[in-house]
Amino acid sequence: MSEHGTTSRYHAGCRCAPCTKASTDYMRAYRAKSKSATEYNKRYNRIAAKASRMAGQHIKKTNPELWQEFVRIATDREQA
Ligand SMILES: [Zn+2]
Repeated sequence: MSEHGTTSRYHAGCRCAPCTKASTDYMRAYRAKSKSATEYNKRYNRIAAKASRMAGQHIKKTNPELWQEFVRIATDREQA
């Protein structure tokens, strides 16, 4: 059995003050971490979407035939 004031002791069923605090602290840190991961992913997705639009505009301007090919593929997928 692990020491009091640990999450494993809390999960084993101990609800003394140090074990409860250990569990609360752990959950708080876990939530903060997953929230910052979500924020990071949102930011990455925004940047990737913007970069994709820029790439599309560039291709449309510099290589209209390739652009048409992408439009054709996208149209096929839309209908699928
Ligand atoms: Zn305890």
